[in-house]
Order: sequence, then C-alpha cells, then structure tokens
Amino acid sequence: MSTIGSPPPTPVSATQSNVILVTGGSGLVGSALRYVVEHETADSTYGKRKGEEWIFLSSSECDLRDIQQTRKVFNKYRPKEVIHLAARVGGLFANMSSQQTFLRDNLLMNDSVLQVSHEIRVKKVVSCLSTCVFPDQVTYPLTEEKIHLGQPHSSNFGYSHAKRLIDIQNHAYHDQFGDQFTSVIPTNVFGPGDNYNLQSAHVIPGLIHKCYLAKKNQTPFVVFGSGKPLRQFIYSRDLAKLFIWVLREYKEIDPIILSVAEEDEVPIKEVANAIIEAMNFRGPVEYDTSKADGQYRKPASNSKLTKLMKESGTKHFEFTPFKTALEESVEWFLESYDNGARI
Ligand code: NAP
Ligand code: GDP
Repeated sequence: MSTIGSPPPTPVSATQSNVILVTGGSGLVGSALRYVVEHETADSTYGKRKGEEWIFLSSSECDLRDIQQTRKVFNKYRPKEVIHLAARVGGLFANMSSQQTFLRDNLLMNDSVLQVSHEIRVKKVVSCLSTCVFPDQVTYPLTEEKIHLGQPHSSNFGYSHAKRLIDIQNHAYHDQFGDQFTSVIPTNVFGPGDNYNLQSAHVIPGLIHKCYLAKKNQTPFVVFGSGKPLRQFIYSRDLAKLFIWVLREYKEIDPIILSVAEEDEVPIKEVANAIIEAMNFRGPVEYDTSKADGQYRKPASNSKLTKLMKESGTKHFEFTPFKTALEESVEWFLESYDNGARI
C-alpha cells in the first residue's frame, strides 16, 4: 500500500536500468567515487562496467529534504541502483552547535531517498552511516551488531540518531516489501574535495587549513583539544572503491564497517604532526584544551569486510598509507585554495 499523497510505484523497465545514481555526488566521498569510476579501467574490480551510467547529484539539482523534488529527479534518471551519500555532514564542533539541524536534515533526506527508491523499485540502495552511530559505552572493537546497544556519544547525538535510523528503515523496507536496502559504516574520511571550512570541517581538513593560515600569517598553529583522542582515518578514494565492492558484491541488509584495521588508530597529535611535516610548517604549535576532545576513541573492526571480500574472490585490498593519502590531500588543498576548495 502506498502512503497518502504518494503516487503508486512505477517500476523501472529493463531498458531503463543501467543508471547508478549517487546522491551527494559533489561531496568528499561522491567526488572520490567519480574519480575512481573515471580512472579505474573497465576490467578492474572497481572500474565502470560496460553499459553503466553513473549520475552524480548535487544539492543544486535537487534538495533531497523535499520528497517532491526527490521524486522528480529520481523519475528523471530512473536509477537501477542508488548510492546514497547526501547528508548534512560536519566535524565535532559543527555537530555540537547544531544538533537539531543535523537530526532533521538527515532524517528528511534519508526518508525521501529511501521512500522514492522504494516507489520506483530501485534494485539496491547503499546508504552511508558513520562510526559515531555506535553507543558511547560499549566494548571495543566496534562491530556491526553493536549499533543499537546504547546511547551514542552526546557530542553528535542529532546526526548519529538520524544515521542509526537508516539501518532501521532498511530493515523495515526489507521486512515489509523485500527491498534490498543496505548501509555501510565508514570511519573518519578525508581526501581531495573535502570540506575545508574552519567552522564545519572534520579534523584533518580543519587542521590542514589552519596550518596553511598559520604558515602564511606567521601565527601559531592551534590544534583543538588535548591531541590525545584516537581516530581511524580512511582515504576517500579507498572508501570509494569499497563502496563499489559493496554495491556489486554485498548481499546483506545489515550494515558493514568500511575501515582500516583496528590497530591503525592515530592520535590527533600525530595527525597534527603529519600535517606540519606535509605543509613544511616551522612555527609554534599550541593545543587549546578549552576546546572539546569529543569521544576519546571508537575503534572499529574491519573483520567482516576482510572476510567477505576474501569469500567473494576479490583480491586483497591495499589501503593507501596514511602519509601518502595526507600528502595527496594537502596537495589538492594547496592547488584548490584560491579556486575550488570549500573553505
Ligand atoms: P560532504 O563532502 O559534506 O558532501 C555532502 C553531500 O551531500 C554534498 O554532495 C551535498 O551537495 C549533498 N547534500 C547536502 N545537503 C543536501 C540536500 N539537502 N539535498 C541534496 N544534497 C545534499 O560529505 P561527505 O564527507 O562526502 O559525506 C558523504 C557521506 O559519508 C555522508 O552520508 C556522511 O554522513 C558519510 N560519512 C562521512 C564521514 C566523513 O568523515 N566525512 C565519515 C563517516 C561517514 P552540495 O555540495 O551540492 O550542497
Ligand atoms: P569526530 O571524529 O566525529 O569526533 O570529528 P572530527 O573529525 O571533527 O574530529 C574531532 C577530534 O579532532 C576531536 O578530538 C577534536 O578535539 C580534534 N580536533 C583538533 N583540532 C580540530 C579542528 O581544528 N577541527 C576539528 N573538527 N577537530 C579538531
């Protein structure tokens, strides 16, 4: 039964069914997906397959918080599959200052995308959660079945509850209608095309931008918090390849963690030092401990991913070394600072 005000389902016909629609296609992860699809050869595991048409949406084409606009754009492209990346995203400090906006924007976007995908019978939707969906008080490492075992950390409860709900929505659509909607859980992502805005950035783009300004203005490089918290970072182009693997090979409704190994946690202080080196910064460094540290650590296990990739016959996945990925991100930032970077 369709909901009040929504049109009856309009199935995709076989001739219309080669479109892969990426919501949030203009963002950090979306631009990495575009890069991988355009740069990997067709015979590689992650390249664009013959006949596939990839469409990368941005908010300028459709505000996904509005279900009517979402219907219009989905009916225009008639996707066979959807990678749903669009979200209101931000670092610790953006989340702390706008819990309601993070909650509502993400709830609305997720509802529109999943409901319209259901209506037009999209064959598979892969949505994106984040490791902040996990409970704050839980035994480590984080594994997929622990998502709903307790309250998330208070620093980003709006965003994390909206993201958690995607897993519930996926199960409800599957349970009632058989829809193949699933989700992935990446750790902290960084790379070319990131959001370098000082108010809303995650830690790596935020620190790259601050280090650049400190060098230029000959002022101290200020790192927020104690520098002690630990994070697992994933390079956006590695994540993009794993997304493509999930789209093609992953069969479950339950989420799957996309992460480097558990032992690859990096303290924020080491991140700051790596940025100092990559930027060749020689000035003073200060830690502003009046600013929040957020969650101390949230180490995630990638054992489900490793096991299933092996079982699917995919060759061993090599993550880009952190230093190389950081240097490529810094290079992109320096090239794009005056024209193109989101700052
Ligand atoms: P991002 O760079 O901020 O990009 C967000 C994307 O969403 C942009 O393409 C943006 O379009 C689009 N968008 C935002 N509001 C929209 C709206 N109302 N209607 C339509 N599109 C809208 O984010 P990202 O880092 O690539 O994140 C991608 C996914 O990964 C998200 O689901 C996020 O929750 C998840 N994730 C990210 C991280 C991380 O560290 N970055 C970690 C874990 C999970 P415009 O740019 O055109 O406005
Ligand atoms: P999280 O991983 O979801 O907590 O989000 P972030 O990517 O924003 O990382 C937050 C961690 O980095 C916290 O421990 C912050 O104290 C620390 N941090 C240090 N300097 C900065 C900064 O300039 N911006 C941000 N966003 N975080 C910073």
